[in-house]
Amino acid sequence: MKNPSAVLRGIGEVAIEERPVPVPAPHEVLVAVRATGICGSDVHYYEHGRIGDFVLDAPMVIGHESAGVITAVGADVDAGRIGQTVALEPGVPCRRCEQCRAGRYNLCPDVVFFATPPVDGSIAGFVAIDADFAHRAPDGMAFEQAAMAEPVSVGVWAARKAGITAGDRVLVTGAGPIGLFAAQVARAHGASEVTVTDLSPYRLDVARGLGFTAVPAGDTPPDGQTVLLECSGAQPAVASGLRALAPAGRAVLVGMGADELTLSAPLIQGRELSITGVFRYANTYPTALALIASGAVDTAPLITHRFPLEETEAALTLARREPESLKAVVLHGG
Ligand code: NAD
Ligand code: ZN
Repeated sequence: MKNPSAVLRGIGEVAIEERPVPVPAPHEVLVAVRATGICGSDVHYYEHGRIGDFVLDAPMVIGHESAGVITAVGADVDAGRIGQTVALEPGVPCRRCEQCRAGRYNLCPDVVFFATPPVDGSIAGFVAIDADFAHRAPDGMAFEQAAMAEPVSVGVWAARKAGITAGDRVLVTGAGPIGLFAAQVARAHGASEVTVTDLSPYRLDVARGLGFTAVPAGDTPPDGQTVLLECSGAQPAVASGLRALAPAGRAVLVGMGADELTLSAPLIQGRELSITGVFRYANTYPTALALIASGAVDTAPLITHRFPLEETEAALTLARREPESLKAVVLHGG
């Protein structure tokens, strides 16, 4: 068996290398990867070789939004799982620390996460992963849809942190893949109105096509929102988004941009706003897959470009070359 893998060797340098096919540990499954979405963090490692304290100082396989088929199982895993289509949850936590035991395993300090140095990612022929983190996809779901359970999970976690429920009026700032998935998840949670902002007319059009109210970033979004899902990381979006909240509004900071943000204390105090961050997600994959399967979350308008594994580098540079793009997916063999 061959295992061609898209290896980030350094800044701006991707090579397809033959790597040994991994041998699953007793609690792991071996997965033939069939689709992997490209995330902004993959692009960031490609362009800058680091994200904060995570520095690429050895070649690393890139990619972490994957789905595929189980082809072999470790000794402790039910062999009946061979042949299942699975979405791969890319972060496997220790399960023993205080955060893991509290159920917040996304905050585990010892999490092993695909394509976060030095851990290899999943744009490869095969990966081995803990069986519990290979989530069975509903019958008939396409690999590229199942792969989107990763960015959809960010939206599911944000909706849970905001406590979105029937009748909420939700403002989503930033209509990238994360914002457009989060907006769909918010609607699925019962939000009665969802408004999306962005600078890009193209992305606002996609938002409109999905049935959301689209507002250009420079304009004032409608006030009286009960929830803000901030998915741009841009200071002006944070400021105008918080101003649009009604008293007792809840804000979730998803976007990562500025290291420091300026927040209006009188606004937060006078309206008793709640503000939280999110870091990835926990226990979201089954929900994300169910939302995709039901059609409540539509991946089709977001997956704008597809590349074979050999052209992973073109997938990583897509956003820079093509302003009218959202999500690139790398399709593997098969
Ligand atoms: P993206 O860059 O494709 O989307 C961001 C969008 O924000 C762009 O379309 C941009 O035009 C828009 N924008 C910029 N300034 C704006 C403004 N003032 N008002 C409204 N929109 C504005 O990125 P993405 O893949 O959609 O991810 C969104 C953000 O979420 C990124 O910052 C990413 O790092 C972050 N993220 C966070 C987590 C987490 O766990 N917290 C997980 C995944 C992604
Ligand atoms: Zn832990």
